[in-house]
Amino acid sequence: MPILVQKFGGTSVANAEKIRRAAQHVIKSVKKGYSVVVVASARGQQTDELLDDARQLNPNPPERELDQLLSTGEVQTVALFAMALHAAGYDAISFTGGQIKMITDGVHTKARIKSIDAQRIHRELHKGRIVLVAGFQGIDKDGNITTLGRGGSDTSAVALAAALKADECEIYTDVDGVFTNDPRLFDKAVKLDKISYDEMLEMASVGAGVMHSRSIEFGKKYNVKIHVKNSGKDVPGTLITAEESDMEEIAVTGASIQKDMAKLTLIGVDNKPGNAARVFSRLAAYHVLINDIIQTELNPQKANLSFTIGSSDLKNAKKAVDEVKDKIGCDKVFIRDDIAEVSVIGVGMRSHYGIADKMFRALADAKVNIDSITTSEIRISCVVDKKDGEKALKAVCIVFDLDKPPKKRKKA
Ligand code: ADP
Ligand code: ASP
Ligand code: MG
Repeated sequence: MPILVQKFGGTSVANAEKIRRAAQHVIKSVKKGYSVVVVASARGQQTDELLDDARQLNPNPPERELDQLLSTGEVQTVALFAMALHAAGYDAISFTGGQIKMITDGVHTKARIKSIDAQRIHRELHKGRIVLVAGFQGIDKDGNITTLGRGGSDTSAVALAAALKADECEIYTDVDGVFTNDPRLFDKAVKLDKISYDEMLEMASVGAGVMHSRSIEFGKKYNVKIHVKNSGKDVPGTLITAEESDMEEIAVTGASIQKDMAKLTLIGVDNKPGNAARVFSRLAAYHVLINDIIQTELNPQKANLSFTIGSSDLKNAKKAVDEVKDKIGCDKVFIRDDIAEVSVIGVGMRSHYGIADKMFRALADAKVNIDSITTSEIRISCVVDKKDGEKALKAVCIVFDLDKPPKKRKKA
């Protein structure tokens, strides 16, 4: 029988009524002839509540214990979900990440999946059972519970879909699909019928929280058909898929903002081979995730080296930089933790020109100062003052017609 993976996010399983409704989605697919594997997140705001509990007892909780605690949220959901399915007359069995051998590395709070044992799940599906797997978690090789980072249940779901060779991975959430921009920040954002893996990956990695970025890496690598849908409404969602030939016709597909960002600038680093490697190997040792890097040569002797990170990594980044700064001749470290990054994304940037010009002009007209600029082949990002972030985002959404469906936009 074809396999379908259905993932339900926190708001879609927030209470008994919503779990019952989610169970009906699953039952509908079973009736259509699918073997269904459900991945669920912690109910409602439970992960945040557990984090608060932890911080009341220890402002700086050990990350292993944090994972041990946070993983319980999703375990509760899948057990309750299985009970709801039994009550509706369907055989179901729930598992923790560890029970299905979702093996990760040992980096607590942001672990990466290494392998999954699909055999146990296949055996249960063959018995005619619905299988439920707690999202967001795995175990490392020593049996410690790990978590995959906030929003990580998407990655559990897509990785499972890849391992099980599922027909499709449905992501049920609290919006109708992937929009040109966060519909909660820009009320004129429009839903996209489809988006390429590359665009979704860039959007997710620069703030579009609707999908965990690692999930899209899996999706692209294993060609998993990902369908983002609203769990509360029966409306068509967004298909995340391989690039199609008409996608490049649109210059900019979407925009995003990352609000909780910090930037470190190492001023006057000795302009010698090996210094950038020294800095970034220390940062890697502290598991700091780097967003963008800019290095500028000041003169033959000195260079400035800047990088942006999520604010939650700032403490570790400071430690790493402190350990290395004297060895690389750095004169001074300049830190900003009051920045946001606004990005525009689109595979069409490969074939359209004038996109950067248009974006910078829109920010200038909105009187937003640009601190720094980085680009990829399909993305332009500007660091701005945090207080200007939303204003900047709206300005770029308007200038690129992101309040209109792709087919109705003016040509760039
Ligand atoms: P879930 O609990 O279902 O995983 P999330 O809160 O992680 O839900 O993701 C859904 C949220 O993502 C939406 O409520 C929306 O505010 C936010 N979001 C950010 N960017 C986008 C976007 N481009 N399209 C749709 N939603 C987005
Ligand atoms: N419960 C986790 C979180 O709130 C994982 C997830 O929802 O995907 O981040
Ligand atoms: Mg999510």
